[in-house]
Amino acid sequence: MADACVIGVDLGGTKLLAGTVDAQLRVHHRAYRLSRPEAVVETIVEAVEEARQATRAEVRAVGIGVPCLIEPVSGTVMACNHFDLLDVPLRDLLTERIGLPVVVDNDANAALFAEWQFGAARGTRNVLILTIGTGVGGGMLIDGRILRGATGAAGELGHIVIDERGPRCPGNCPSHGCLESFVSGPALALAGRARAEAEPDSGLGRALAGGREVTGPLVNELAHDGDVAAQEVIRSLGRHLGVGMTSLVNVFNPEVIVVGGGLVATGDLLLEPARAVVAERALVPARDQVRIVPARFGDESGMLGAAAMAFEAAELVAG
Ligand SMILES: [Zn+2]
Repeated sequence: MADACVIGVDLGGTKLLAGTVDAQLRVHHRAYRLSRPEAVVETIVEAVEEARQATRAEVRAVGIGVPCLIEPVSGTVMACNHFDLLDVPLRDLLTERIGLPVVVDNDANAALFAEWQFGAARGTRNVLILTIGTGVGGGMLIDGRILRGATGAAGELGHIVIDERGPRCPGNCPSHGCLESFVSGPALALAGRARAEAEPDSGLGRALAGGREVTGPLVNELAHDGDVAAQEVIRSLGRHLGVGMTSLVNVFNPEVIVVGGGLVATGDLLLEPARAVVAERALVPARDQVRIVPARFGDESGMLGAAAMAFEAAELVAG
């Protein structure tokens, strides 16, 4: 009999990843889906079924990270920027559909849990995480505890305002100039396209003229191939990120800020300018103590963290 497993699910704004994971956090199988806003629950159930059928191990529980605020006791969705899930009792609904114990938490909290227990923030007690993908998720570990706020709504680090007169924030956020409106996958694509139009002789410009759609991954690919215009677009996002982090460093005095999500693929092109802005603008001594690092598990932190939370829950059930 193979070792017992759990299934971790990371529901992103665009993509869903489900993984069959053992107690050493090794991934045995991955199931990918597009996140269909009109059929979120259906998509989660399908991916979990695929992951479950792909393993001969006993699957003991399912952990699910979602880009929503979750009421911690009931597992009900309190707010959701990307999907129409308000007031849906997600944990109970999925427990019934899947037939296994289910834990549901915010996706950034799941990523934070994985990086804190097993990854880039191991051994620390004051950690912030920013998961940068379609939107920006946030999580905070303060003095060794995940900070949830009065009603579980804390940690929306993507919605700190870095420019009062900035662009309208995407999704259901009523604000303007949030970090998320400057630093995200869609923001990278938008900035890349503007740069391509402004500089037709650059690699970005030639890609656009050649009929390619300017996406975040394309900007990243061209930047890593040496296109200066693409590199400058990513560095510019990195400086915005640094402005947001400066406020976070001053308020929370973290030991580590972990950056995860799809945009972590841009690596030091994004993080170096962010570190430089923090070093220049944040207060002493917090700015000298903080490390700004990529997630050890890249864009799989959310899935692995959801799995680790499921293991915890399964152990509690087993006594
Ligand atoms: Zn916002």
